[in-house]
Amino acid sequence: MTDEPQRGRLFVLSGPSGVGKSTVLARLRRDVPQLWYSVSATTRIPRPGEVDGVNYFFVSNNGFADLVADGKMLEHAFFAGNFYGTPSGPVEDHLAAGEDVLLEIDVQGARQVRSAPGLGAEAVLVFLAPPSFDELARRLVGRGTEDESATAARLAAARDELAAEPEFDHTLVNTSVEDATAGLVALLAEPCSPVSSG
Ligand code: 5GP
Repeated sequence: MTDEPQRGRLFVLSGPSGVGKSTVLARLRRDVPQLWYSVSATTRIPRPGEVDGVNYFFVSNNGFADLVADGKMLEHAFFAGNFYGTPSGPVEDHLAAGEDVLLEIDVQGARQVRSAPGLGAEAVLVFLAPPSFDELARRLVGRGTEDESATAARLAAARDELAAEPEFDHTLVNTSVEDATAGLVALLAEPCSPVSSG
């Protein structure tokens, strides 16, 4: 017998840019504060109001390349002109401490988590889907966080991302923040096996 806590579970929330992942996540943070929310690194320029170390770790291209070269990323992807990645150390630490962990990442990253030795088999992959492609386009253009070419890049990526839905364990359709969050809370509460450490 050891006193080590049972490892936590790894949840991955993914889906196309503009589907509302961040909004659902903000609500989830409020409703489920005991979950540990991973902070990604990115080379994207901060949007107004975004805080380094809170929303993202904002790093240079060279800084990002070093993190990857040093094997410090659990997964990483190039998305619509910028690099994004999940620092592996904090995720490992929190899982080992018995805390459930949530990553909010793009579809390419979710695939990498799925194929990661040990972690991948047990990770719970959740796809947040828009009610329709037109609705996604409306949200992406309407939120106005990107210029025209960046919005076009995100819309082009969204078509491929939507096609990845069958690769996920669960799909939640984001008809409203309340419903999508409630769906996630229900998934988090489902008993499932802990992440294997192998
Ligand atoms: P945004 O620039 O809108 O904050 O994020 C763009 C996309 O990158 C979103 O789909 C978001 O989920 C994804 N993303 C954020 N952090 C990560 C990460 O660490 N890894 C990967 N693969 N994607 C991420």
